This record gives sequence, C-alpha cells and structure tokens, in this order.
Amino acid sequence: MTLPPPEMVEVARGVYAYVQPDGSWMINNTGVVVADGAHVMIDTTSTEARNRALLAAVAEVAPGDPRALVNTHHHGDHTFGNWLMPASTPVVGHVHCREDTLAAGLIAAQVLTGPDYGHQEVRPPDVTFTDTLTLWAGERQVHLTHVGPAHTRSDVIAFLPDDDVVFAGDLAFAGGQPFLAEGSLAGYPRALDALRALEPAVLVPGHGPVCRGDEVPRLLDDLTAYAAFLDEVARESHAAGLSPLEAARKHEDNPFASWQESERLVGNLHRAYSELDGNPLGTRLPLADIWPDMVAFHGGPIGCVA
Ligand SMILES: [Zn+2]
Repeated sequence: MTLPPPEMVEVARGVYAYVQPDGSWMINNTGVVVADGAHVMIDTTSTEARNRALLAAVAEVAPGDPRALVNTHHHGDHTFGNWLMPASTPVVGHVHCREDTLAAGLIAAQVLTGPDYGHQEVRPPDVTFTDTLTLWAGERQVHLTHVGPAHTRSDVIAFLPDDDVVFAGDLAFAGGQPFLAEGSLAGYPRALDALRALEPAVLVPGHGPVCRGDEVPRLLDDLTAYAAFLDEVARESHAAGLSPLEAARKHEDNPFASWQESERLVGNLHRAYSELDGNPLGTRLPLADIWPDMVAFHGGPIGCVA
C-alpha cells in the first residue's frame, strides 16, 4: 500500500504539525514549535526511516538541535525516535511516561509487525514532571499538563496559549477509534473536557488530519459520544457475564464501526471491565494479555503499514 507522504503543516506562525497519512497504527503526527532561533519538538514517530524523514523535515523549518523534545505519552509511535535526539536535547515527559517507556520496551514493534522498524533503541524521558510544566521556545510558551489516565497513564497535552494551538497526542484520533486499553475509560471524558476547556482554534490529533475552528468541538463531541457508548456496552455486558470479546462481537455493528482500528473496541472493553471490577484507574493491564482478543475480533493479524 502506498500512502501519501507526510506533510509539514504550519498551523500558526512558526508552529508546525507534521502530519502522516493515513493515521493508522504507528503512523502518527508530531509537532515543532519555533521561536527566536530555538525550537521544541513534540513527539517522534515509529520506524527509523520515518524518524529520519521527520528530522530532515524539522531541519528545513528549524535548523540546529531542538531545545527539548516532549513525549505526549509512552507509546512507541511517539517515542521510538527519542534515541535519535542529540544527547544534549532533553526528552521531557510525565513521570509515568518514563516508567512505561522502559516497561514497554519495543513491544509495539513485536505486536504490530509488518514494517521494517530499522535500528531501534529505547530512550525514556530524562526530565519528568507530575502535573504541569512550561517550556519556552524563545518567548513562546508550551504549557504541558498531565491529564491521564485516559489514553495511557502518562497523557500530556501541549498547549500554546499565544497561538490557541493544542497538541492532543493520542487523546484525539481523528478518524480512528480511541484506544483506552492502557489508560482509563473513566478518565477519558475528563481529559476530553480539559481539551475542550482550552477552546483551541487548532487541535493537532495524535493521528489523522488537523482540526480547525468548528471541527475541534465536533471531534471532541464525537470522542465523548464514543466513551459514552463504550461505558454503556461495558456495564450491560459485564452485568450479563459476557467476556470482553463476546461483548465486542455482540456490538460489532455500532455507530462507530466505520472508524479506523475497530478492533480497539475489545481492548477498550478490557479496560472498562477492570474499572467495573473496582481496580484503581490506571492499573496496568499488560498489552500482551489483551492483544490476542483484538486479533481475534479483527479476524487475523492486525496489519500495520508504517
Ligand atoms: Zn498512543
């Protein structure tokens, strides 16, 4: 399959979204914030080839080493390029992002087979925080706020108050189903509320096209509706004694079935069941335990074309 090439989109003066079609598994978006000769990067991408292409594209809009690299969360499609950063460029993330980057290692490349990942090394954030942190690119502020657990335990949104631009990480998939297996169903609507409260003019999702103007609340409302649907299915199915896989199959035909990565439904139900069982939010559910149900629901190995 040939995908359109990634595109560096200037969403505000000196603020860039690096958008990678088609936004499916391991094909994510990243960001660059440039001001006064300095720049901050937001996330890297998955394969070595994609990371080298990303760095070449960044060099065209912002020469020199990044002042910092932010990780919006620990997933490999956002962190597998960390090792390509100069040693003098700090990688910044939530304290759980460091823990979970180390715990996950290269598992994403082992379950999402298909691409040539090239050389890989795990480099976790080396500057961590718990609630909020502000980075400065020259006079431009990048506000980081922890809003997890939602997509993962370590979700951070990066908001640029001077530009009304938010980098939402994987709290927002534009065109794909949310993925909450490693995060929290209870926490997800709260994270979406936090994004909504910023009233951003531009929202850069972790995957899929950039949203502007009215598209932003529309996407957030759609994602909130998905969370409500998931909550309803989980409660009903849990009470009826169905397994997550049985519940997903019973509700396979649903209003969100046309969104990409529909197999996430069963992974999300595992998380919802954990919360209905009374486990604390953000309890670790090993992906290796959930993935086989997602493969079964998908009807075979889950393709990845990164
Ligand atoms: Zn993710």
